[in-house]
Amino acid sequence: MNKHILIICDGMGDLPVPEFGNKTPLEAAKTPNMDRMAKLGKTGLMFTLGKGIRPNSDEAHLVIFGYNLKTDYPGRGPIEAAGVGEILEEGDIAIRGNVATVDNELRVIDRRAGRIDDTTPLVSEFNGMEIDGIKFLVKPGVGHRLSIVMRGKGLSDKITNSDVHYVTEDKVVENWEGLKVNVPQPLDNSPEAKFTAEVLQKFLEKTHELLEKNSVNQEREVKGELKANYLLTRGPGYYKKVEPFTQKWNLAKAGCIAGAGLYKGLGVMVGMDLIPVASATGKPNTNITAKIDMAKEKIKDYDFLFVHIKPTDLFGEDGNPQGKKDFIEKIDEAIDHLDKVEATVAITADHSTPCSHKDHSADPVPLLIYSPGMISDNLAKFGEKDCQQGSLGIIDGKDFMKIFLKY
Ligand code: ZN
Repeated sequence: MNKHILIICDGMGDLPVPEFGNKTPLEAAKTPNMDRMAKLGKTGLMFTLGKGIRPNSDEAHLVIFGYNLKTDYPGRGPIEAAGVGEILEEGDIAIRGNVATVDNELRVIDRRAGRIDDTTPLVSEFNGMEIDGIKFLVKPGVGHRLSIVMRGKGLSDKITNSDVHYVTEDKVVENWEGLKVNVPQPLDNSPEAKFTAEVLQKFLEKTHELLEKNSVNQEREVKGELKANYLLTRGPGYYKKVEPFTQKWNLAKAGCIAGAGLYKGLGVMVGMDLIPVASATGKPNTNITAKIDMAKEKIKDYDFLFVHIKPTDLFGEDGNPQGKKDFIEKIDEAIDHLDKVEATVAITADHSTPCSHKDHSADPVPLLIYSPGMISDNLAKFGEKDCQQGSLGIIDGKDFMKIFLKY
């Protein structure tokens, strides 16, 4: 047997919560299944990006998968594009987009166009548009989001965001309302960056014209809804292929079971097969049992499966420890009997999202590795505090795969 299932519960790590008697949501949750696996397996803590670094989800996942951020991280745009099903080619620039509402002076009224729930009929107007030899491939994402891919010669990702909310992906401007949309600017002196910024600006102007006239928007205006009349862009990234995950780790077949686009995109980017689960939504209503059951079934055909569970992070960002604890209990119910599957299982997180911070933190995440017949740590509970005693010790995310595959 040499089969591995990696379950990443996004943002599961947390800090002591006073109303839980200073236990974390994971410690306070009733998790008999995870506890049994912790008792029979090994535990530890992991700094996914290294000590003191507050991880982003996409970067943390890539490092856990064994990639080097300096050489392999393409930026958020290409990962999101892969997640909505865009087949990227080397040299593409992929950008995250929003449909927004602007006034006649191009001042932003609403970054999400009144939280429009489907951009499909808008996107079909300009998907495939060509400007100055550059093709624009646009696919709808969730709600107001979409993905824009620029394909052609001489492009660069060294351009600024047109989204007034974001100076960079990390630096957010809070008082953006009423600010004029940004015109993408080159970030270096290369002719490629200048050209990319100019062509993208032409595209944004052209799509603005088309969106103003679009029948969906005319109907929205009649109904008194905000028009979705401008594309805001951010997170441009230059796509280049990375070494496939299977080749890197000498595996035959690796699969990805995820609901949210970013994580599907991460799987696709490293060459994992996407294994669809219809009821996996990436939201609190996601069907975890269906995902874990799919993993139990598919591990017969695969030697590595990555299962991503998102809502633990959402409860952390909402500052809702009770919701997080309840959701962790749901995860635990779903993984019932996973230890009976002929596979080594790891359960961990990409980062901590303490409810008290409502944001990611640099705290290490709990890690559990269970393999039938391994020398066990014999600890009582899977939780942040107990994991400090585990025999895996405190590891760096970059060493995870080596350790996991050893079992
Ligand atoms: Zn995350």
